[in-house]
Amino acid sequence: MKKELQTLSVPVGENVIIGSGHPIVVQTMCNTHTSDIEATVAQCRSLAAAGSQLIRITVPAMSDVAALAEIRRRLRAEGIDTPLVADVHFSAEIAKAAVPVVEKIRINPGNFHADHERARALFREFLELCKQYGRTIRIGLNHGSLGKYIVEKYGNTPRAMALAAMEWVRMCLDAEFYNVVVSLKASNTVVMVEAYRELARMMQEEGTVFPLHVGVTEAGNGDSGRIKSCVAISTLLEEGIGNTIRVSLTERPENEIPVAQYLAHRYSSASAPGALSAREEGMLDAACTWGAPLLNRTVDDIPLEDKYLKDEIMQACRRRFYKPEYIACPGCGRTLYDLESTFNRVKDATSQFKDVVIAVMGCIVNGPGEMADADYGYVGEGFGKVTLYRGKSPVLRHIPEDEAVQKLVDLIAADRAE
Ligand code: SF4
Repeated sequence: MKKELQTLSVPVGENVIIGSGHPIVVQTMCNTHTSDIEATVAQCRSLAAAGSQLIRITVPAMSDVAALAEIRRRLRAEGIDTPLVADVHFSAEIAKAAVPVVEKIRINPGNFHADHERARALFREFLELCKQYGRTIRIGLNHGSLGKYIVEKYGNTPRAMALAAMEWVRMCLDAEFYNVVVSLKASNTVVMVEAYRELARMMQEEGTVFPLHVGVTEAGNGDSGRIKSCVAISTLLEEGIGNTIRVSLTERPENEIPVAQYLAHRYSSASAPGALSAREEGMLDAACTWGAPLLNRTVDDIPLEDKYLKDEIMQACRRRFYKPEYIACPGCGRTLYDLESTFNRVKDATSQFKDVVIAVMGCIVNGPGEMADADYGYVGEGFGKVTLYRGKSPVLRHIPEDEAVQKLVDLIAADRAE
């Protein structure tokens, strides 16, 4: 029987409960433009039918709050009652404006406000409003976008992520606000697993454990994205850490649902996944079986005859690198280009560079911050233009999209020749 971290149980709307004693909740996020109401309603419809129990929608601008309200109104009129989550970065005002509109609001404290004292005051106002409307929040920190204040105070480690999250957790407790879910995502599976463990331990020590939303951010796509998500998420779920999950893939968000359902079913009483082919099921099973022993370093090798699968699992656990490490965000309403096909072109063109980390990010607003420890970054600016990064520094800006993949290859090759 799986262990379970005892957490509070938090309602999201009328039909979903996240927390101890409840099946793991599966969720995903729209990648449509929120202002495109028709497209977003259509994608929500499709995601609800696929089995997503929560649907997150980005709210990049104040004008998107009205679109969000209309999207929710149309879905409810169709009888689709899946709770919606507003995804808000940077703006406390947008977060507050979204409270009357949707069941849950995700904020990224790393960029809630540049001035930490001001951020605390704004957060307090936001919590009071959430209390008034009976809303739930997610405190969603990402390894790549820890705020300057957080990095200066705690550094950029898993423990730093957990300590930073605890500041916001305590603010919720001080405000006697308990409808809280917390996440500490990273694209590096070792960092991600350690961060959640630290946070679970710290919350236990302080006596109130909020439910955890678990996921690997910027996991990429295809087999690699699925395996990277499964090794890390399953390691935590085996320890009873995780009450809601997202398997984040740079693909159609519908594709994430069967993988997340597989994990939720394997580690809780959640329903069995929809259609999975035998090959995919075998791959997910192997990733879940070998993820924890490799990440915990209780084994150094795994007895798999399938060399490709073995290489993928070893790399997902960061035990052996047989190809470049790719980071790619799943895309969202901020993405202004065809992220999935571009990511595949970048992978095809850079497979010869074995020991580099290459990020492909959907937007210039959050992408550079979220790239974490990538050596090179391909960041879409929109309007057919791309900026290429070496580490955190932009080195080629406003390159036409049809030249950008080759320029990235040239950049990496030139660096290596030096
Ligand atoms: S980095 Fe990707 S997922 Fe994150 S906000 Fe930008 S486009 Fe959306």
